[in-house]
Amino acid sequence: MNHSVSEKLFAEAKSLMPGGVNSPVRAFGNVGATPPFIARAKGSHIYDVDGNDYVDYVGSWGPMMLGHAHDSVIKAVAETAQNGLSFGAPCGLESELAKLVMQLVPSIQMIRMVNSGTEATMSAIRAARGFTGRDKIIKFEGCYHGHSDSLLIKAGSGMLTTGKPSSKGVPADLAKYTLTLQYNDVAGVRETFNAIGDEIAGVIVEPVAGNMGVVPATQEFLQTLSGETRKHGALLIVDEVMTGFRVGIHCAQGLYGITPDLTTFGKIIGGGMPVGAYGGRLDVMQQIAPLGGIYQAGTLSGNPVAMAAGLATMRELSGNPEHYVRAERSTTTLLKGLKAAADEAGLPMTTNQVGSMGCVFFTPGPVTCFADVQKSDLELFRKYFLGMLDEGIYLAPSQFEAIFVSSAHTDDDIEKTIAAACKVLKSL
Ligand SMILES: *Cc1c(COP(=O)(O)O)cnc(C)c1O
Repeated sequence: MNHSVSEKLFAEAKSLMPGGVNSPVRAFGNVGATPPFIARAKGSHIYDVDGNDYVDYVGSWGPMMLGHAHDSVIKAVAETAQNGLSFGAPCGLESELAKLVMQLVPSIQMIRMVNSGTEATMSAIRAARGFTGRDKIIKFEGCYHGHSDSLLIKAGSGMLTTGKPSSKGVPADLAKYTLTLQYNDVAGVRETFNAIGDEIAGVIVEPVAGNMGVVPATQEFLQTLSGETRKHGALLIVDEVMTGFRVGIHCAQGLYGITPDLTTFGKIIGGGMPVGAYGGRLDVMQQIAPLGGIYQAGTLSGNPVAMAAGLATMRELSGNPEHYVRAERSTTTLLKGLKAAADEAGLPMTTNQVGSMGCVFFTPGPVTCFADVQKSDLELFRKYFLGMLDEGIYLAPSQFEAIFVSSAHTDDDIEKTIAAACKVLKSL
């Protein structure tokens, strides 16, 4: 496969932006390759500047549940843009999107639109702290909640010890307010709440972890978070930036039957435009400015074009449950095929799936937490990734990322992907 134009563009980009990119994973650092520069995308396929055609399983990292450039979304954006891009003043589309989200997710009694998932989680953490008057938060190893200071903290040496910044530039003083526990570890959560429950402002969790590959939560784990937060006056923040309207039209909280105090959204809710949102309990959301003393704002928040893209996407999804059926069925077929290909090649593989989120780990498994994910053979993943790319299959360039299947993926796409995997895995 020829990548000469991408190589030229990447060389230039590297002199202009850190690593040549505006978000680190795009630089393909883990797999040691030049990232294809994308010229256009339609449905389940993306096309690079060298004219290569790929079946896309990244889907802009989650938003493209309907596939790329879905006609109804593009039409809504184009029509709305005719009337101006942003007013910095209220517009009706904000309420339209808010109403639709609140109908589909009953725990949301009031909502605030922002511009990214990072903003949503950062603001939800502030809301939890402001509402409870407490500073400490709990998160889980392997979960990602965006790049705000309080959430770029990893575990210290013991369960109740001070966290450590996982990025330079995050003050160590701030790290002491973030506790990082093991995903799916019910006993760890109970112990922590028993010890310092009255200091905890909130717990933030991915209800299906999608930033360490895909690791579903157990029902017991989420129920425990719900029970312990309620008992100790802390808030449960369910981060549905990835899972929201991806694992089902009622999100992961609908699948698991839990009622969070606050929920964060991003990705699909913007249909490919920069949108995030946070919302939940009325008494908490009424503390957000201008109603209350928890400040949060945004110049471009709720702009009409972004709202139109989100609304068109959400209307299409809520009006046609078939999108979920089709995407999930394709994912199941795909993962079965990949697993069979690995078995045939004599390679260890575990597959995890929730709805149209999936992942293959190069380890015998099972994979239920970050420590399990780390047992994966990263060198094997790297070779598999590069082989698949060469076959026209665009996967996330890291073992620690999910694959996203859209409702636009066809049986042909899936068959082609499995055939490529058979060929690539056999050669490793
Ligand atoms: C992507 C993601 C975020 C961050 O969203 P951005 O829009 O990239 O800032 C937060 N939480 C989860 C679970 C995510 O998957």
